[in-house]
Amino acid sequence: MQESVMQAWWASSHFAGGNTAYVEEMYEAYLEDPQSVADEWKQIFDGLPKVDGVELDTNHSQIRDQFRTLAAMGPAAKVVSAPAAASGSDEKQVRVLQLINAYRFRGHQHANLDPLSLWKQPRVRDLELSHHSLSESDFDTVFNVGSYAIGKESMTLGELYKSLNRTYCGSIGAEYMHITDTEQKRWLQQKIESVQAKPEITREQKVSILKGLVAADGMEKYLGAKFPGAKRFSLEGGDSLIPMLKGLITEAGAAGTKEVVIGMAHRGRLNVLVNVLGKNPSVLFDEFSGKHDDSLGAGDVKYHAGFSSDFATPGGNVHLALAFNPSHLEIVNPVVMGSVRARLERRDSMDGAAVLPVTIHGDSAIAGQGVVQETFNMSQTRGFAVGGTVRIVVNNQVGFTTSKTEDTRSTQYCTDIAKMVQAPIFHVNSDDPEAVLFVTKLALEYRNKFKRDVMIDLVCYRRHGHNEADEPNATQPLMYQKIKKHPVPRQIYADQLAAEGTLKEHEASKLIDEYRAALDHGACVVEEWRPMTEHSVDWRPYLGHDWTVPYEHAIAKDKLVELAHRLVDIPEDVKLQSRVNKLYQDRKSMANGEKMLDWGMAENLAYATIVDAGTDIRITGQDSGRGTFFHRHAVLHNQKDASTYMPLKNIREGQGAIDIYDSVLSEEAVMAFEYGYATAEPGCLTIWEAQFGDFANGAQVVFDQFLSSGEAKWGRLCGLTVLLPHGYEGQGPEHSSARLERFLQSCADHNWQVCIPSTPAQVFNMLRRQSIRPMRKPLIVMSPKSLLRHPLAVSSLDELSDGVFHNVIGEQDDLNAKKVKRVVLCSGKVYYDLLEQRRKNEQTDVALVRLEQLYPFPAEECEKVLAPYKHVKDWVWCQEEPQNQGAWYSSQHHFWQVIPDGAKLRYAGRDASASPAVGYVSVHNQQQKALVDDALTIK
Ligand code: AMP
Repeated sequence: MQESVMQAWWASSHFAGGNTAYVEEMYEAYLEDPQSVADEWKQIFDGLPKVDGVELDTNHSQIRDQFRTLAAMGPAAKVVSAPAAASGSDEKQVRVLQLINAYRFRGHQHANLDPLSLWKQPRVRDLELSHHSLSESDFDTVFNVGSYAIGKESMTLGELYKSLNRTYCGSIGAEYMHITDTEQKRWLQQKIESVQAKPEITREQKVSILKGLVAADGMEKYLGAKFPGAKRFSLEGGDSLIPMLKGLITEAGAAGTKEVVIGMAHRGRLNVLVNVLGKNPSVLFDEFSGKHDDSLGAGDVKYHAGFSSDFATPGGNVHLALAFNPSHLEIVNPVVMGSVRARLERRDSMDGAAVLPVTIHGDSAIAGQGVVQETFNMSQTRGFAVGGTVRIVVNNQVGFTTSKTEDTRSTQYCTDIAKMVQAPIFHVNSDDPEAVLFVTKLALEYRNKFKRDVMIDLVCYRRHGHNEADEPNATQPLMYQKIKKHPVPRQIYADQLAAEGTLKEHEASKLIDEYRAALDHGACVVEEWRPMTEHSVDWRPYLGHDWTVPYEHAIAKDKLVELAHRLVDIPEDVKLQSRVNKLYQDRKSMANGEKMLDWGMAENLAYATIVDAGTDIRITGQDSGRGTFFHRHAVLHNQKDASTYMPLKNIREGQGAIDIYDSVLSEEAVMAFEYGYATAEPGCLTIWEAQFGDFANGAQVVFDQFLSSGEAKWGRLCGLTVLLPHGYEGQGPEHSSARLERFLQSCADHNWQVCIPSTPAQVFNMLRRQSIRPMRKPLIVMSPKSLLRHPLAVSSLDELSDGVFHNVIGEQDDLNAKKVKRVVLCSGKVYYDLLEQRRKNEQTDVALVRLEQLYPFPAEECEKVLAPYKHVKDWVWCQEEPQNQGAWYSSQHHFWQVIPDGAKLRYAGRDASASPAVGYVSVHNQQQKALVDDALTIK
């Protein structure tokens, strides 16, 4: 800034003493929107050092430097409104304000966070008086404290310094100055500074905290004694998690929350199951003894089990659901978010008030696993927001056997990822459970008020290494020497309560005895536990059916015509882009019966019938509104004003809801989210669509750990439909194959359906079947690309109206079965290549049979369809995929099952290949021609 401008500004400025906070606020407003401040201020701020908006810490210190210079230049005599209380020089006054700011920014770096005191904290000069040209000799001087929310305008420096240290460098390290929104920042300051991060708490609350610690410790000791050496991934060291979660649920209930969905990995999970969710300890002991629930098929280890219960709070009972979880740590987070989203929609509480997601992370995993970033990125988006998640890191400072920063991360804190959404982060020493409870309540209040994610870093340790069979001294000798001598959290807190006279020593011992007796008794140990009545959905209609369960599938043609017209009836003020307009004109002809239906029309019509029947639909994927291949156009973009119009939302009054969201650019988190959504909401047709089918491999963990095996492991049904564009059209290795073989290889126990519909009528009836049939099984669909516009891939309204998805489609041309010498079995797009070539060849001796569902394999239907070919000895399976891929190896045993005894089955397709497809179109074309010729040529 030019000196003259600054001097002029100073001369007329209110920037002095008590008005600094005002200037600061104005500057923050300017940073967000330069036009939001008066011109004279804008001119001044424009002159300050330019900042990039990210390094706010630097911004402020640069600004402070400028202000300091300014203060030095501005003679005290010219200060317009010097604070009455300011008795030091104005320059010092500015420095005091800088000191406050430094504590807000960096106090956490000097906080006492590590119960083991092993952290080597960097020296932060900004927190030293001398850095601000202040000293203890100024301690008696009274200064204005600006926006420091202590409830006083001024304090002596001595008082202030003590207060800042207490507030920002005690057991809590608050990181929030990266938040650009002034309202949030001020709110947090008010909450933290007004009580100096240590509010008074009642005796009752203290006893309740101690009870939580007694339970946490008692449970682990009990298990350790009863089942020595058995893996339980003990919580010990992070015991505060138990009073923390109970406090969180209690406060949430008091604030009106009706359900809390929790996601956590294995560490401490048994403790949470018994001491928070109220799982009966005797059931857990049985599990340790090797007994299991036969109804659960394959089952899972006890520290992956989920649980549901209700929990009494001052605001009424709250339903608790601990999500089932594989050992893949962070992947459960998007599952929890999806489950919460479904529950919020069901409760019509889109602001997040009724359902609270709580995710519990490990310190290494939260920094290490990319899916965490994906969930933060989703947290404020239209299709995936859940009103904020309370995220808790159980930071035991070791990742498996690796130590803190040198091996597990590149940041000081494991929580830095939260800054990408400007979430406040509260680091807290878990040996101070009152501080833990304070930040927990604060985090909840913040989440409920601002509907955003918030993070608590519970800094603790693990008493027994990675698990109880482990020898942690082998890898962390110094840490474990320290841990050995370190008293347990229950002891530390009981001693504290005894010292302050809150609780006598024998009263604490009594609590321990009572808890142990309760465990001996084997009954539920959670006082707040209540039988489940608060969960909001009934799964019973979907239980216990097999594939043959009857359902109302037909739909009257008149109704179809009516719905088709509703779909194409676009309001006049919606101006469509010319290609889209042409497509809708074609759809009009289809509705009028003048044209056969194409894929896009049939698919949209399926959705129309479903919402017309009052059922909800949710579709997400990277291009879901339009369709990757420009076929769906379920969301129309008005060319006049860029507004959107969805014909499917305008079918009739009171119809089912339909939401179609173009997703964030992720597969893993989005698929996991949709899995979570579909396992919490059986009443909605939930669809995830990959942009290209092979992108699904970015979500492989979700297919393997959840979708294919969730029912077998956990008894959790899921009706998620997954659309994976698949087909060999010369687009190269990445955009040809959805890796059908992987899905087929995972087929067993009727875990899911794998379908390859080849006509518009088939996709129509497949989607309707998935919605209407009263069973919930995942549906994996190899969906088409070129077939979306193939002239032969069309259907009539009559074909749609019979309502049947044909698992097998027999020969469609008028062939004399008796003259057939070969039957070619195939699936998907290659059928049309075969059909066209056969017609060109004018061949009548080869029949083409399409398997539209590869799993569960439709053996009975095959028997009927293949009956006319009992005499045929020459059978071929034709596929586009290389031999080691596609259905040949994984489904061959089924093909053998349905061909006549004594017949031969031969493969026609590409040679085995490491890559899914060749990269050169010319080679692709040669290969495609060769495989079709091979399938059809009878030598
Ligand atoms: P939740 O609301 O997730 O706690 O579930 C409450 C109860 O509903 C569970 O205890 C199960 O009995 C049942 N349930 C929830 N989700 C499913 C599912 N995906 N499949 C079958 N039953 C479920």
